Amino acid sequence: MATKKTPPRLAPAPPMCGPCNGTGEVARPVRVGRKRRPVGEQAGICLACFGTGEATD
Ligand SMILES: [Zn+2]
Repeated sequence: MATKKTPPRLAPAPPMCGPCNGTGEVARPVRVGRKRRPVGEQAGICLACFGTGEATD
């Protein structure tokens, strides 16, 4: 009787946060002036996952 070898189970990957794609950071546009002219983007912490990159339930 052969024993069945079971492959080591990998831990399931945590659900990825949507807004930051799992990076924990989001690029937010930087605007200046009255016209709110966009001057670029700045990396900011993702408020959906607080920088963990994992989707919270
Ligand atoms: Zn996030």
